[in-house]
Amino acid sequence: MRILVTGGAGFLGSHLCDRLLAEGHNVIAMDNLITGSTDNIAHLAGNSRFQFIEQDVTQYIYLKGPLDAILHFASPASPVDYLELPIQTLKVGSLGTHNALGLALAKNARLLLASTSEVYGDPIVHPQPETYWGNVNPIGPRGVYDEAKRFAEAMTMAYHRAHGVDTRIVRIFNTYGPRMRLDDGRVVPNFIGQALRGEPLTIYGDGRQTRSFCFVSDLVDGIYRLLLSDESDPVNIGNPAELTIGQFADVINRQTQNPAGVIYEPLPVDDPKQRQPDITKARTLLGWEPKVPLEQGMAQTIAWFAEKLRVDAIALAA
Ligand code: UDP
Repeated sequence: MRILVTGGAGFLGSHLCDRLLAEGHNVIAMDNLITGSTDNIAHLAGNSRFQFIEQDVTQYIYLKGPLDAILHFASPASPVDYLELPIQTLKVGSLGTHNALGLALAKNARLLLASTSEVYGDPIVHPQPETYWGNVNPIGPRGVYDEAKRFAEAMTMAYHRAHGVDTRIVRIFNTYGPRMRLDDGRVVPNFIGQALRGEPLTIYGDGRQTRSFCFVSDLVDGIYRLLLSDESDPVNIGNPAELTIGQFADVINRQTQNPAGVIYEPLPVDDPKQRQPDITKARTLLGWEPKVPLEQGMAQTIAWFAEKLRVDAIALAA
């Protein structure tokens, strides 16, 4: 297949490019690099089946030649990023999704939308099945991301129903791994960066809020299976192993042997109190479930961040 990955220079987008190339497909990565980086795809530069186009997908997308699939992953995705880029976040979820769907219609291509557990907001139903409609504050600071993704889902279903576009929707839960940006503000890079510098980890609130972390290779495998399936309704992909942020801080401090402990900072507005995917649908429909345990995935991620800090320090000194 010839496949376009929007947000292809981002954390998830670049890992998807790797997987698609490994499966033998031709891949075009598109990214405006506001949160993505060419560092994430530098290793693909010599690959004749790979092409990078620097473009903002909120602008009209012109692409020559046939296209079989679009993986629409362009968007700021960390709370810090989308608070700094609120209008870009709304635009990429709405206008960007409209453009990607228009391209899918014109090329008769399948479109897979990267949606999010944020469509469930601060969930009252726990764990969250796909049938839950969510508890989102539309006018809060996170609303720019949550509502853009909810709109993107609605638009995707409208193109599916009205134009017969072949669509998939994945609702992605917290995911971690190599290539996350050290300064993206999310808990995984924050804690690992702090631990590697021997600083205390900043727990927001009392640390009793929960998250469930999925290693990137598991997530990419679930997404690839969904792409090849014929399910057009949303499917949760994530790791159901849930822990509190306080417990997560302990894991990081233990694995990095960081003696600095933790400090407490205020909880951001509308920070969800609990989050755990119900993955019954992915299990039964896709035969998928996560394989990488937290300690193992974190060890790989910590090693990657340690190497990145080492290389960055050398570059700074030079
Ligand atoms: N968090 C934290 N310390 C940090 C960064 C985040 O305690 O330095 C908390 C945050 O308040 C949230 C959880 O960790 O409860 C996960 O935050 P993240 O930004 O990774 O993503 P979210 O799941 O909220 O989208």
